Amino acid sequence: MARLFAVVNQKGGVGKTTTSVNLAAGLAGQGRRVLLVDLDPQGNATMGSGIDKRKLARTIYHVLLGLGEASSVMARSESGSYDLLPANRELAGAEVELVELPNRESRLKSALAPLATEYDYILIDCPPSLSLLTLNALVAAQKVLIPMQCEYYALEGLSDLVGTVKRVRSNLNPQLEIAGLLRTMYDARNTLSQQVSAQLEEHFGEKVYRTLVPRNVRLAEAPSYGTPAVVWDRASRGAQAYLALVQEILARDIETENRAVSA
Ligand code: ATP
Ligand code: MG
Repeated sequence: MARLFAVVNQKGGVGKTTTSVNLAAGLAGQGRRVLLVDLDPQGNATMGSGIDKRKLARTIYHVLLGLGEASSVMARSESGSYDLLPANRELAGAEVELVELPNRESRLKSALAPLATEYDYILIDCPPSLSLLTLNALVAAQKVLIPMQCEYYALEGLSDLVGTVKRVRSNLNPQLEIAGLLRTMYDARNTLSQQVSAQLEEHFGEKVYRTLVPRNVRLAEAPSYGTPAVVWDRASRGAQAYLALVQEILARDIETENRAVSA
């Protein structure tokens, strides 16, 4: 059964899409069957996967509104070797249109359920808001991966997000847990980064991924080639960090599996 991760942070530009795309390609590179779901009307994960969002007749929007099956919308990222449920600006309308529909928070969950046996990992790239779209991701997922920049306001936003995760767990999705916090665009020479990073470790302990993603221009350049950085320039420091994150996630998942088997 697939492990479902929602990549969430209501703050914009913290590295959600970069993380989603590189994790998807990195896990695929380790032989895992991966589906990436673009749940952001910006369609950045779609473009970064090498799929032109402007040329799509059908997207995740149609799936959420019950106008098409996930299988009929599915695209393949050849550059990343994973499957993609793409998005474009049409998805912005779903926010309003979903409100009228039954089970508005669990539409993504229902759409992904039949795919769970076909993948090892399903990653959902969320928009920068705690909107109905993000809520759909949190209801569908088992785990939340939170990319964040180590700056002053990051901690404030984090407590809102943790509160939302707790509310979703009590009301809609009892299995939901925080998989980990990922420090992105990290600058080790910056004192504030170090301080915020230390505070994160203090409050969240094991939930903070050991891997630190440095600020690295190759990560920012790769999307314009429609290729994840871990494929496009594997040797770059940014790509190496995401490959280390893949190993960290795989190791944690194997550990949980072993515990389940021996219990
Ligand atoms: P949004 O909230 O708009 O969806 P996001 O959280 O998905 O944004 P990204 O799109 O991944 O964030 O990253 C924001 C910008 O920073 C992009 O231009 C991306 O290429 C760049 N970027 C992401 N991570 C890094 C990094 N580690 N080093 C340098 N640039 C980065
Ligand atoms: Mg994004």
